[in-house]
Amino acid sequence: MSGTLGPAPADVLAALRRPPGRALMLGHVHPDADVLGTLMALGLALEARGWQVVYGGPHPAPGALGFLPGIERYRVLPVIAGRFDVAVLTDCPNPGRTEGLIDQARAASSVVVNVDHHPDNRLYGHVNWIDTTAAATGEMVYRLLVDLGLPLTPAIATNLFTAIHTDTGSFRYSNVTSATFQIAAALVTAGAEPAVVSAAIYERRPTDALHWLSESLARVQVSEDGRVAWLALPSGAVPETFVESEELVNYPRSIASVRVACLLRARGEQVKVSLRGKGDVNVQRIAAKFGGGGHPNAAGFTVAGDLEAVTRDVLAAVREAVGA
Ligand code: 5GP
Ligand code: MN
Repeated sequence: MSGTLGPAPADVLAALRRPPGRALMLGHVHPDADVLGTLMALGLALEARGWQVVYGGPHPAPGALGFLPGIERYRVLPVIAGRFDVAVLTDCPNPGRTEGLIDQARAASSVVVNVDHHPDNRLYGHVNWIDTTAAATGEMVYRLLVDLGLPLTPAIATNLFTAIHTDTGSFRYSNVTSATFQIAAALVTAGAEPAVVSAAIYERRPTDALHWLSESLARVQVSEDGRVAWLALPSGAVPETFVESEELVNYPRSIASVRVACLLRARGEQVKVSLRGKGDVNVQRIAAKFGGGGHPNAAGFTVAGDLEAVTRDVLAAVREAVGA
């Protein structure tokens, strides 16, 4: 697929071209590499221009992403303290994904900038840049830095390369375009090291992880027609940190006949569900029925209920969507 990523809109550029002041890089719940890589990259670039930057969100950065340059600066923010000249949210489709911090950020900031590639983005910023053709928000923030004339240091390039690497499943998913590779090439030229990033993502498992992986994979089930595969994990079956550092939904997804893969994780009284679609089944629509969202091929939601009941309800909705 060919891809062209348009320039960042003038109002987004203007918001970040003001004289250096205090900036807030605000993350969404359970931050992943796309949000963290983009917040770090933009924040580090602004710092090089004299800005003071605070990085944080409702949840901590996962330990598995501890290799991202500067990530030790990212902290859990119980409240937004102080005034900010600008607050930036990346990869965050809706205000609910900040557990209320967005409302505080709006009150504390002169301008809120929303940069995202999710089709269901709610345009909650004072200025909004949504490009659903971008494979990752990392592509957009790369473009933003170029348009702003901000530096692409190796640290910044590594953050953006990781953001794009992970959101594209290592450059494998249908969201990948020629623009993805052009941007990745520019980031490698700027000092991102693909082998270092791949090793940090795929070759840092703790010793027990393969045992937990086998515990998890033993629970994969496939529908009779082979079109739906799911993995339901009761709470405590494997450590939460393990689940957060693995894309477990990729295993049911990897079965040839599967059109929709589901990962259901019980967490207390709730179940967190990840859906992945292959081909033309739109899993974002399925997630929306349960109050969630995402992309046509990757979506999720969290609902109250016990694992068995939620699994039954989700599978019924998925079967309907795949026409089984
Ligand atoms: P994951 O399954 O990796 O947690 O998320 C896949 C995609 O679905 C991501 O793009 C993410 O933004 C979206 N997603 C996951 N959980 C939720 C949720 O609870 N609400 C919304 N709106 N989107 C979600
Ligand atoms: Mn993303």
